[in-house]
Amino acid sequence: MKKYLSKIYNYLPHFCHNLFVTGYNIVNYKIRMSGNYSKWRKHYKNNEGLPIEELKKIQESKFIDLLRYTFNNSPFYAQFYKDVDVLSISEISEIQKLPIIHKEILRANIDQIITLPKNRAKASKTGGTTGKSLTVYKFENDIQERIAILDNFRAKEGYELGKRTAWFSGKSLLTKRDIKKNRFWKTDYWYNVRYYSTFHMKDTFLKYYIENLTTYSPEFLVGFPSTIYEIAKYGLAHNIDFPSNTVKAIFPTAETVTKETRAALELFFKTKVYDQYASSEGAPFIFECKLGNLHMDIQTGVFEVLDENDTPAKEGRLILTSFTSYGTPLIRYDIGDSLLLSDKICTCGNNNPLVEEILGRVSDYIYSSETGKINLGNVSNTLKDTKGIIKFQVIQDSLERIEIKIVLDSAKYSNHIEKIFLDNWRDRVGTKMDIDITQVDDIAVEKSGKYRIVQNNIKHLIENNS
Ligand SMILES: [Zn+2]
Repeated sequence: MKKYLSKIYNYLPHFCHNLFVTGYNIVNYKIRMSGNYSKWRKHYKNNEGLPIEELKKIQESKFIDLLRYTFNNSPFYAQFYKDVDVLSISEISEIQKLPIIHKEILRANIDQIITLPKNRAKASKTGGTTGKSLTVYKFENDIQERIAILDNFRAKEGYELGKRTAWFSGKSLLTKRDIKKNRFWKTDYWYNVRYYSTFHMKDTFLKYYIENLTTYSPEFLVGFPSTIYEIAKYGLAHNIDFPSNTVKAIFPTAETVTKETRAALELFFKTKVYDQYASSEGAPFIFECKLGNLHMDIQTGVFEVLDENDTPAKEGRLILTSFTSYGTPLIRYDIGDSLLLSDKICTCGNNNPLVEEILGRVSDYIYSSETGKINLGNVSNTLKDTKGIIKFQVIQDSLERIEIKIVLDSAKYSNHIEKIFLDNWRDRVGTKMDIDITQVDDIAVEKSGKYRIVQNNIKHLIENNS
């Protein structure tokens, strides 16, 4: 939300906020669900249950199309592939002839990478849970195709837009009055979606979430699993019996679902969790099926798993190629996640190959005495509307203070940007905590080669007191 709009928002009464959220959604859904959306819904629905040989053929031809398009339309890739005879590549097995691209290369060269003028593109800011800022540019068609694929996945459990849904996303929705009244949600009455704040995960607030969820009785829960987990854990600890046959499915987004999280969610809400893997830069999809297995959807891209010598392995770094990335092509993209593959075969009817586990996305949080736990997704989203922050790390050594280390692109950074970044933090941690921002040249990585966006060194204090 633009700053002047959010100032007005703060003065409006609750029912106006609901209208505001509704209007915002009508506009947004219109773009996402027009154009080729219905065509893609049908297309992927028809392809359900195809044998693996057919799926591989589709994958190969989509790969060749994307590769040639990219070579001919992206100045960066044309140069990046100058030592490869791209036009002679005709099989997926030849993908290894192409160099791997990293997030930092993508960020630094984005203007040369994109294949469409920025004014014709939909910009999409990403942080995911990585703490690195990146904007990618997408064709409407790619967005519509992606939404169609996601909607087909959710439709298997009965979901359609308009069914009563509780959404737990990283948007700042509430005013001080809301918090005083213990009202932690806004409602879109047109599409039947209630948005719950994920910035107020504190024991003293959680009972109001549960009371409200019980009366609202949503058929579906969508959003940050760490937030839904806090609610479920509170409910279980206080022996609250959530009404059975209410929630038909839980669809987590953005973060890893640990075994512990899944168990608590399924037990408290008396339903099943359906996990998925995707990312805002436009990665191909991994979907969980009814039998609890994770399928890589190979019609949406190529999944390579490589060891430290870049040799294919059962466990290692995930290198992605995405067939819905025509605006900002992702070909052999090192997204920073790791995967453990599985040899098992699933009998659910989906013949896509299986993943045993998505590794290496540790779930961590910052704690504010005022607002409670701030999960990784919300921490990462503090980059929203900023420029020039290449990456950052938050360190918490006490309940009263956090230190944020930032690596800057000083050509793009300014005092104004710092204020936006700080305001984003204030939305999440409240007004009382000290926030110290320190500029550094780089942030040290862990043994795994990744750096951790959150370093919480006082978890022992929080787990006992919250
Ligand atoms: Zn399956």
